[in-house]
Amino acid sequence: MLIELWAILALLLIVGFAYLKLNSTPRILMHNTNQPNTHRWDHASDYSLALCAYCNKPLEGWFRLEGIQCKVCGISCHHFCARKIKVCKLASVSTYKDSWSHDWKKVFIAKEKKCSYCSSLCGSVYDNSSFQCSWCAKCVHQKCIDLVVPDCDMDGCKNHIIHPAYVKMPNKKEKNHLRIEKLPKEIQPIVIIINPKSGGQIGETALKAFYSLVNPIQVIDVFCDYSRLKLFENMNDLRILIAGGDGTVSKLLGTLYDEDWKGEKPPIGIFPLGTGNDLSVVFNWGKGIKSRKGKNIGSMIECAHDAIKSTCKAYPSNLDRWAIRFTSKNKTKSFIMCNYLGIGVDAKIADDFDKLRKSKPYLFQSRRGNRIIYSHLGGMEIINKAFKNFTSRITVNCDGKSLEIPSLEGILFLNIPSYAGGVDLWGNRDDFISDSSESFADKKSFALQDKQDGLLEMAGIYNSLHLGECQVGFSQVLKLGQGRKYKIEISGKEDIVFQIDGEPYTAKGPVSIEIFHKDQVKILVKATERHHYVAKKALDVISWACDRGVIDATQKNIILDEFSRRSKI
Ligand SMILES: [Zn+2]
Ligand SMILES: [Zn+2]
Ligand SMILES: [Zn+2]
Ligand SMILES: [Zn+2]
Ligand SMILES: [Zn+2]
Repeated sequence: MLIELWAILALLLIVGFAYLKLNSTPRILMHNTNQPNTHRWDHASDYSLALCAYCNKPLEGWFRLEGIQCKVCGISCHHFCARKIKVCKLASVSTYKDSWSHDWKKVFIAKEKKCSYCSSLCGSVYDNSSFQCSWCAKCVHQKCIDLVVPDCDMDGCKNHIIHPAYVKMPNKKEKNHLRIEKLPKEIQPIVIIINPKSGGQIGETALKAFYSLVNPIQVIDVFCDYSRLKLFENMNDLRILIAGGDGTVSKLLGTLYDEDWKGEKPPIGIFPLGTGNDLSVVFNWGKGIKSRKGKNIGSMIECAHDAIKSTCKAYPSNLDRWAIRFTSKNKTKSFIMCNYLGIGVDAKIADDFDKLRKSKPYLFQSRRGNRIIYSHLGGMEIINKAFKNFTSRITVNCDGKSLEIPSLEGILFLNIPSYAGGVDLWGNRDDFISDSSESFADKKSFALQDKQDGLLEMAGIYNSLHLGECQVGFSQVLKLGQGRKYKIEISGKEDIVFQIDGEPYTAKGPVSIEIFHKDQVKILVKATERHHYVAKKALDVISWACDRGVIDATQKNIILDEFSRRSKI
């Protein structure tokens, strides 16, 4: 009896110990700082990172991987070996040398990689005797390391990399903060702002990919080093690449245009992660990286590299932004809108979708799954009929004229020709044939949408089924207006659901809404081959004129704006 009791007790202890071991966070992970030149450790999630870079023993422990990996330089090791590996990919060095040497690191090397000296295969899973340069990604065998030319050309994005000698570390004695010295003229710096949580695992992989391509100081994780953006405030010719979704773009626009940003506003390129991105569609950056491709670090580095090059070659264009003022019960709330404002049924579906996503995140793993859930919620709304007499409570005034509104369950204000991740609700494509809206308003009296014309389009949705049909292209929205200023009054005490750029809100009725043009912001259009050549020549001439003093910077910007407006890029 006593022996059995002991046995049970021992078993409980073992299980408890195993549980603790599985769930504990190695202390080193909690000591991460956002200082340059230091590692940023994270759990090693990849089983192919099999050997410790310090002790060469496997990373697999008793109950789980005991390995950690640095997001910046890619080194993986045991958490108890981490303190022995001092040097990360250097963001800052104290002296400038004309030539830059390879920075060899023992990291996991892809199978197909070849030695840059002897050209035979370098990568292997259970062997980490080879090295990879953290700047140019070239690989060498241990036996070949002294035979290769030590000079590193910082391959890839050399003209966009900030050389570590220009980055000055904070100095307590001289009370200096971290800063970047004036860069040589030929350098066109880029900053990558990344949301590693967007797109599931893809975001983390993208973060590692960007760290491997540029100086780590140029990569800003929105969650831990967003304030570092200030370092780049007065930099000439700066371009910013957003790796994330529309939300991250809006956050940056807020910092550049609505807060106190000194210096020229840098234009923004987009590397779309996650689902439902509209700005990236409109500015030609695509809908998003496929998750199969995005999980593999090798192909992610290729995509990230392309995105950096495209950002530096892209043309600046303008995007209208709209100010929205909501007044409910004598309280006024202000918002800024870039994409669209929805009131009624579309907002209700977005709201339900958002609530479901927060309570059951596991349902939202894939893009197609998201669409199915979304259309299902639309179906629920048909049964609910919550917005049946919605428009009888509404009056809309557009540019001083009141609009006639038929019976609808939702209205939308559209700034850009993309809704819910790429749907062209206004029907801007030439091949779009529809007769559904002609009975109410003459379709021809409305112009096509333009993201920089200072006009906002107003459209109507009959019900959620109609919205669903519009989304798959079977039907078209009801075009109601196109104007510079709107005033909407909604009577009745019922709650009003609305969404701004996909973010749902609720307000107590009655509500009055004012929409007016706020400003224009600079976003880059990814160049296609077709308009690349001529546009590039024209832009080169404008830059040349500015450099030679033929025109000044203000004149240059006016010409660029006009160029962008006329060529619709
Ligand atoms: Zn590191
Ligand atoms: Zn070790
Ligand atoms: Zn190198
Ligand atoms: Zn070799
Ligand atoms: Zn417009």
